[in-house]
Amino acid sequence: MENANSIRDTVILGTGCAGLTAAIYTARANMKPLVVDGHEPGGQLSLTTLVENFPGFPDGIQGPDLIENMRKQAARFGAEYMHGHLASVNLMERTFKLDFGGGKTVSTHTLIIATGASARWLGLPNEKALIGHGVSSCATCDGAFFRNLPIAVIGGGDSAMEEALFLSRFGSKVTLIHRRDHFRASKIMLERARKHEKIEFLTDTVVEDVLDAGKKEVTALKLRNVKTGKVWDFPVSAMFLGIGHEPNAKMFTGQLDMDQDGYLKTHDFVFTNVSGVFACGDVQDRRYRQAITAAGSGCAAALEAERFLEEHGR
Ligand code: NAP
Repeated sequence: MENANSIRDTVILGTGCAGLTAAIYTARANMKPLVVDGHEPGGQLSLTTLVENFPGFPDGIQGPDLIENMRKQAARFGAEYMHGHLASVNLMERTFKLDFGGGKTVSTHTLIIATGASARWLGLPNEKALIGHGVSSCATCDGAFFRNLPIAVIGGGDSAMEEALFLSRFGSKVTLIHRRDHFRASKIMLERARKHEKIEFLTDTVVEDVLDAGKKEVTALKLRNVKTGKVWDFPVSAMFLGIGHEPNAKMFTGQLDMDQDGYLKTHDFVFTNVSGVFACGDVQDRRYRQAITAAGSGCAAALEAERFLEEHGR
C-alpha cells in the first residue's frame, strides 16, 4: 500500500463486475488503483451460480469464479485491494479525501463509484428477526439449508424465477408468491419456472408477516389475497426474497445527482455531476443490470478517469 499521504490517481469503490473491470483498465493504464471491497465483496455475481450469458464462456462460468478471475487479472497489473466502508467525503473539495472511519483516509484525484445495489427486503414486522433463520435474500447462500422442506420465494421478476428454479433442487416444494398476476420476468425464465414440477405459483398475494420469531425459525407466512381479501397462514420453512435491489449510493446524497429511487444519475454513460467522479454498474443502471453491461460501464469509467488525469496534467 502506498504511504498514507500520497494522492492516488484513482480509487474504485466496489468489487463487483463494474468495479473490477475499472480496476483492470486503470491498472493496465498504470494508475495503480486502490479498489475498495464494501459490505458485499464481489457484488451480485458472487451470490449467483452459473452465468450463461457472459460472452466468452460457451459452457457458462460460475459467478464467484468469474469475479475471482477479474480480481486476479486486475492485481496482476498492480491494482491494490482494501476493505472499507466510506464514512464521508466532500466532493466539492479537490483532491477528494475519502474518510473510511477509524482515522483511515485516502486522497485521490479521481473517484470511480461501482458500489452496486443490494437486495431489497419487505419490511415485515418479524422479517429482520428471522434473517439467517429462514429468511434470506440469497438462494445460492442459504438454499442448501432447506433440503426436503417447503420454501417460498417472493417476487415476479427474473431474480425470483432464478431463485425458485435454483431452490427447486433442495426444497420439497417451492411456492412463488407474487403480488400481481403479471410478471416482469423474461418469458423464458417465467416459462421455465411454470413448467417445473416442484414450483407452484400464488399470484395476487402479499406477505403480511413471517412466523415464528419466538421460535427463531420460519414456520409459516401470513398471506393475504389482494383480490378476495382472504388471509391465511401458509406453512413454509424458508422465505427467499427476490424483489429487486436498492442502489448503494446513500453516502453521496446531496452531492451527486440521483433519481427518485436513489440510483446515481449519469450522463454520457459514466459522468456524474462532479467532474472527476464517475459511476458505473448497478449503482447507476436500473435498466440493464447485467454483468456484461456493468463491465462495459466499468471500462468506460476507467477510460474517462484516465482521460481526466491527462487533461489535468497528471
Ligand atoms: P425486478 O425486475 O425489479 O422485479 C422485482 C419484482 O419484485 C417485481 O415483480 C416486483 O413486483 C416485486 N416486488 C418489488 N417490491 C416488492 C414488495 N415490496 N412486495 C412484493 N413484491 C415486490 O428485479 P429483479 O428480478 O431483481 O431483476 C432486476 C434486473 O436483473 C432485471 O433486468 C432482470 O432481467 C435482471 N436479471 C436477470 C437474470 C437472468 O437473466 N438470469 C437474473 C436475475 C435478474 P411488481 O412487478 O408488482 O412491481
